[in-house]
Amino acid sequence: AKQKSRGTISLYQPEMDQQIRDRRVLHQDLSMAVKNGELSLAFQPQGAAGHSVAESEIIGFEALARWQHPVRGQVSPAEFIPIAEESGLIVEMGEWILREACREAASWPKPLQVAVNLSPAQFMHGDVVGLVHSILIETGLAPGRLELEITEGVLIEDFDRGLALLRRLKALGVRISMDDFGSGYSSLSYLQAFPFDKIKIDRAFIINLGRNPQSAAIVRAVIDLGHGLEMSIIAEGVETVDQLAFLANEGCDGVQGYLLGKPLPIGKYAGLVGRAEAM
Ligand code: C2E
Ligand code: CA
Ligand code: CA
Ligand code: CA
Repeated sequence: AKQKSRGTISLYQPEMDQQIRDRRVLHQDLSMAVKNGELSLAFQPQGAAGHSVAESEIIGFEALARWQHPVRGQVSPAEFIPIAEESGLIVEMGEWILREACREAASWPKPLQVAVNLSPAQFMHGDVVGLVHSILIETGLAPGRLELEITEGVLIEDFDRGLALLRRLKALGVRISMDDFGSGYSSLSYLQAFPFDKIKIDRAFIINLGRNPQSAAIVRAVIDLGHGLEMSIIAEGVETVDQLAFLANEGCDGVQGYLLGKPLPIGKYAGLVGRAEAM
């Protein structure tokens, strides 16, 4: 058996190579995914926070990207969105996602909201305002029905440009929400500086509701803070009736999570969007 000690780097080399190869292959495949029609959208319901599921009226959906890889099957957006980001593919992909989400929502009999995630590269490097404007016109979606979700990380790069972009987007009539609130470092200063309409409380705080009193205190404080800034609050990752009841009690405006529904092809929610039957 080999006794020679090897450095940490060489020990990890084979796996690192594999990871890099995986990523490179995934990137090549991803560049074809849009053209090959492998991308789709899942829609997750968002409800007004009521004390029970039945009382939580559905007010809209968040569109979430899905990639059906021909060999690997479903690849998580947590895996492919970062690759698309780094490689610049996100610009083309994000355009497809936005158009598809708006086109879909415009076809619903009920005028519900649709929330679409904008990634940092898409937000800071593309002509996001021109894109949103032309897609709204093209699809005929009322601007007030579109919500754009961005994370605070998006704005770190260039404060002035970020602020200008948010203002121009809001001038189109769309709403902006701060996604994953509480998961970053400078959330409070961002809330003061940027004109968000809505705060999405990160799932991490919701999971711990009922498990530790600190999370409850934080969630309560964020709801008050947001309302003080005239923003509405939605909680992500709501999975239990106890979490829902707590949030409704504290005056949280909206809820999203497996309790109300998982992200699914819109056909599964045909009834909610006002279509007679599943497609
Ligand atoms: P996100 O924007 O924070 O989306 C919410 C994620 O939480 C989704 O994961 C959703 O499936 C999951 N989720 C929702 N409710 C629950 C719950 O009750 N319990 C648990 N455990 N999870 C819940 P998903 O779809 O895997 O997306 C992961 C992330 O990938 C998203 O996080 C977002 O950052 C990114 N992403 C997804 N679709 C897009 C897209 O179209 N464009 C961009 N730029 N990013 C996207
Ligand atoms: Ca989101
Ligand atoms: Ca989120
Ligand atoms: Ca997240």
